[in-house]
Amino acid sequence: MKIVYSDKHASHDPQTFFVRGVKQRSTEQPERATRLLAAAKGAGHEVHAPKSYGIQPAASIHTPDYIDFLQTIARDWAKLPNASAEVVPNVHPARYPATYPKALAGRAGWHQVDLACPIGPGTWEAALASSEVATTAADMVLAGERQAYALCRPPGHHAYADMAGGFCFLNNTAIAAQHLRQQHARVAVLDVDVHHGNGTQGIFFERDDVLTMSIHADPSLYYPYFWGHAHETGTGKGQGFNLNLPLPLGSPDAPWLEAGGKALARIREFAPTALVVALGLDASESDPLQGLKVTGAGFHAMAGKIAGLGLPTVLIQEGGYLSDDLGRNLVQFLTGFEAGRR
Ligand SMILES: [Zn+2]
Repeated sequence: MKIVYSDKHASHDPQTFFVRGVKQRSTEQPERATRLLAAAKGAGHEVHAPKSYGIQPAASIHTPDYIDFLQTIARDWAKLPNASAEVVPNVHPARYPATYPKALAGRAGWHQVDLACPIGPGTWEAALASSEVATTAADMVLAGERQAYALCRPPGHHAYADMAGGFCFLNNTAIAAQHLRQQHARVAVLDVDVHHGNGTQGIFFERDDVLTMSIHADPSLYYPYFWGHAHETGTGKGQGFNLNLPLPLGSPDAPWLEAGGKALARIREFAPTALVVALGLDASESDPLQGLKVTGAGFHAMAGKIAGLGLPTVLIQEGGYLSDDLGRNLVQFLTGFEAGRR
């Protein structure tokens, strides 16, 4: 399978992450991508560099205010007296009607939903490169490849049109889906990351041309907490075009694959002509975030089912954190996908 990768991801190395109020280094580390790349190369997949697209693909999903914020905030923040090395918000507009502020701390609170998306001097470069990795893979599929895998880092599925969160800045999955819309009237997005793809849901919530589906650990007990429930089905024209399949914490392969079957049935009913898979590997039983207990065989089986749809497919790397199984699980998924095509 063709794999797209850029080493520019390494310029983003977030140091800020809070667990039960305790600050620690982020689990979203550059080594994730180097391990995934080594595993994919070791399994014989060909690696391609991304093409250059500039901000256009990102701007097809994200608002001008937000893109300007991501491009400039680290530089401007560094000029503030006693500023931290990374931009981290300390105030949020929360759930009430609000007005966009000018102060940097206010803008940070507007555009960064949590403390898990700190912005350093290299964050924009890495996020932009990640969006170009996704766009290049989508272009390969538009050009006739049956599938391509985008090794995106930082990940994207928690990013809304104007808001970063949960390690994510630009929504690579949404950007790829929008790019496929150039040739495909209906595109489906299936998110198998252990966390609900809340940014992707939010971006397409009012649309009926992109079906969004997510299989994840129960958000009433697990990040992103406020989104990902079964009753969120879309609104307006998008009513019925969002499907959430939350699972009890710690669920193993069988219920995960059963949820996959439900999503596939909905995809067949929607009858898209292209598919984007938000490929988080953090549902693994070995993942440090411990939301679900999916095995390597589970990833292999899910990939085979998805491949069996026969749709042109872009695989976008989302979560999946450092464990001995991280690279192995990617190879299991890619191998299962190729087997499912035959
Ligand atoms: Zn995740």
